[in-house]
Amino acid sequence: MNDKSKTGKSEKLVAVKGMNDILPPESARWEALEHRVRQLMRRFGYENLRTPIVEPTALFVRGLGEVTDIVEKEMYSFEDRLNGEALTLRPENTAGVVRAVVEHALLYNGGKRIYYMGPMFRHERPQRGRYRQFHQIGAEALGFGGPEVDAELILMAHALWQEIGLQDVELQINSLGQPQERNLHRSALIAHFEAHADTLDDEARRRLHLNPLRLLDSKNPLMQPVIEAAPRLIDFLGGASRAHLNAVCAILDASGVAYRINPRLVRGMDYYNLTVFEFVTGKLGAQGTICAGGRYDYLIEQIGGKPAPAVGWAIGVERVLELLRESGVETPAAVPDAYAIVTDVSALPVVMQCLQQLRAAGVAVLMHTSGAEGMSSMKAQFKRADACGARFALVFGADELAQDSVTIKALRDAGVPQETRRIDQLPQWAQALQSKA
Ligand code: ATP
Ligand code: MG
Repeated sequence: MNDKSKTGKSEKLVAVKGMNDILPPESARWEALEHRVRQLMRRFGYENLRTPIVEPTALFVRGLGEVTDIVEKEMYSFEDRLNGEALTLRPENTAGVVRAVVEHALLYNGGKRIYYMGPMFRHERPQRGRYRQFHQIGAEALGFGGPEVDAELILMAHALWQEIGLQDVELQINSLGQPQERNLHRSALIAHFEAHADTLDDEARRRLHLNPLRLLDSKNPLMQPVIEAAPRLIDFLGGASRAHLNAVCAILDASGVAYRINPRLVRGMDYYNLTVFEFVTGKLGAQGTICAGGRYDYLIEQIGGKPAPAVGWAIGVERVLELLRESGVETPAAVPDAYAIVTDVSALPVVMQCLQQLRAAGVAVLMHTSGAEGMSSMKAQFKRADACGARFALVFGADELAQDSVTIKALRDAGVPQETRRIDQLPQWAQALQSKA
């Protein structure tokens, strides 16, 4: 601990770089999005699953793949000082959900539709749309192998964009096929990149024989031409994989959801197969992907469960909110219905008991609080009441209290006469106080 008496003052502590406080009123936009997501998930039959933020490091190494950006350089991993366990702050939550589903045998009587919301941690270079603590909303459908579930998840994300008022989001789809198709493609990929070895950066050279698919995910602009010319996985797909992709597309077509097949789309984790997709916007600069996902039919067995197919996506919450801001979509500010003006501290017990009843009846009411000199002047309190946006002031003044009453004064609607009522009748006003102008 700092010895304050010696140094005179403590050093100012600030948040960790790349990790943000989410302050009011901005936090209201987060809550509004989360509220909509909960409603959406309920309508689609997805249930909430909450996993710990810290998981065994091995879960991500095994689940995401050793030769991936996340596992190689982005994880916050540490050794538990008390027992030496290797732990990691979750960089994503699909692996955690799968771990929980396997651990608790949730698939014993069929598939499960799951969603989550929460912070993820990756040691990246902080920039617009890229933070070290960021937040994802994720949906996972586990135990379902059919293309209709891939489509359901895509339709659900699409519905969310529509409900929150996002436009100009492009849906890109690809198929990563099945392991045997990927093996054929892998050989062709290695041959291609070996023939252009001079254009590869160090990382690409190192990964070439370990995980050549990762090269396609490279953001190095100098490598884009050779990536562009690389053999496409989609050309290695057999009939069943093609049929799966076509079935997803047919559902999207029928639902009027536009998409573009992007044969270059690969995802950053190794666990994907068949359908992969991203929702992308051009409005956020380089960090344009707001939602990404796909099928991961082999992850459950990889994490020790009985083999079962699965598919899911994750939304980057910061990016969605930034895009909403860019698009000029406003979230209505949360204002209280009423502001309680109290002229004498001795009245507080009576006043607060009354406000409790109003709140129990659903009224949002803010109360003026005392300072060193007791309650401030009526005028100062009215100023506060006005500034907070409340529609009504509830005046608990000396005159009112002498008669066990309260004056209700409209602050926003000129011409509405003020009324004085007995305090014990105030709860009957709950409805009127909440009705919006
Ligand atoms: P990117 O290519 O931008 O690094 P990714 O492929 O690593 O993304 P995923 O692991 O698929 O991202 O995560 C899903 C979504 O989470 C991304 O599309 C993005 O919206 C968001 N996301 C990922 N990393 C970050 C981050 N560091 N900061 C903010 N949002 C992020
Ligand atoms: Mg990344």
